[in-house]
Amino acid sequence: MTQDTSVAQPSPATSAPKIGFVSLGCPKALTDSELILTQLRAEGYDTSKTFAGADLVIVNTCGFIDDAVKESLDTIGEALAENGKVIVTGCLGAKAGDAGGNLVKQMHPSVLAVTGPHATNEVMDAVHLHVPKPHDPFVDLVPAQGIKLTPKHYAYLKISEGCNHRCSFCIIPSMRGDLVSRPIGDVLGEAQRLFEAGVKELLVISQDTSAYGVDVKYRTGFWDGKPVKTRLFDLAEKLGDLAEKHGAWVRMHYVYPYPHVDEILPMMASGRVLPYLDVPFQHSHPDVLKRMKRPANGEKNLERLLRWREACPEIVVRSTFIAGFPGETEAEFEHLLQFMREARIDRAGCFAYSPVEGATANDLPGMLPAEVREERRARFMQVAEEVSAAKLRERVGATMQVLVDSAPALGRKGGVGRTYADAPEIDGVVKLLPPEKASKTLKVGEFTKARIVGTQGHDLIGQPV
Ligand code: SF4
Repeated sequence: MTQDTSVAQPSPATSAPKIGFVSLGCPKALTDSELILTQLRAEGYDTSKTFAGADLVIVNTCGFIDDAVKESLDTIGEALAENGKVIVTGCLGAKAGDAGGNLVKQMHPSVLAVTGPHATNEVMDAVHLHVPKPHDPFVDLVPAQGIKLTPKHYAYLKISEGCNHRCSFCIIPSMRGDLVSRPIGDVLGEAQRLFEAGVKELLVISQDTSAYGVDVKYRTGFWDGKPVKTRLFDLAEKLGDLAEKHGAWVRMHYVYPYPHVDEILPMMASGRVLPYLDVPFQHSHPDVLKRMKRPANGEKNLERLLRWREACPEIVVRSTFIAGFPGETEAEFEHLLQFMREARIDRAGCFAYSPVEGATANDLPGMLPAEVREERRARFMQVAEEVSAAKLRERVGATMQVLVDSAPALGRKGGVGRTYADAPEIDGVVKLLPPEKASKTLKVGEFTKARIVGTQGHDLIGQPV
């Protein structure tokens, strides 16, 4: 049995997080320790010779004979007493206790994570959760926030992949599989890096944002050393905190109208999360929604939406719809137009139904001729545009916060920006007039206040103030 309390190199003059490392056990355990230490060094972590001087301690244990078990448990106890943040790996980590659970957790319930032997990836995941990976601009090939294809001041944050629904017109689940939620610690870590890199607007995306965490039964993860549940409410709350700290916006996309979405409305009303919801309704008539096999098709969407507007009057709702779905009757389509008028959807897009290879909707009876589908789309868009134009006109006279997307010559000739009501690429913009005051400049990625003086199609005209 060997014991090697860290192989620390002299610490460079950086603030790299320090990991204490105790390696117990046989040569196989020693090679596991080497792999973990190599990975730690490759990622820029430093090592600490003492428990007290470390940000976190890893104990690689042995569980072969009773003495080895005792030595491992004692070492974990010492590390907990002197440091408090301990990850356990190795053979003892795989051993069951008397009561059938995990022995290490039974004896030391406050350890942060326990893995079996040969588990470098799991150990590194646990390290990342509790002591985020340091970024060294001279060594890392990619910036801390990763490679982004968006302008520097906004970024998309993907919180999950795949989808558990089987909408009859969609083949995404067959391509991307069932819902897999990213661990909440990873998602929040990425959000923090993006904000630290200067992102002023974070756009939360997935196939079904409301379902975040369903696949992992809303498992408790860790962020900033504290437990956080993998679910929409907690995510919105923490992202709201981070955004507030960095003077930035958080915008939610692809939110299905489940009852629990009501819980995030107060956060929107208070401005922690933008009062903007991208809800893909697709239709309003319950029978069409059933044929579409839409999630939340039993929900009373109009009532829910009106309640959201009561809780947060400034809420802006964007949605997409399909006109001419197989079997759609004129009465069902009229229902959709009436829904548009009553729900006053601020921003609506509409597709004429078109069959997608492999989608089950292709087998539904009642496929409508292409001209009917197209004609309904056009009628829908006429109503949608009337609603949207009327809502835009209500903005005239208001002074709004605008995030500047473009401002040649520091905005002396004006620029282009967006309010909370406009997601990039899909909604309208605010066309900014040249500032009246010579001292006022506009800069890309910064906020300015603008007095709304008119509308132009889907856009607003704003005078920077
Ligand atoms: S359309 Fe339906 S099945 Fe397709 S990704 Fe969205 S919720 Fe999932």
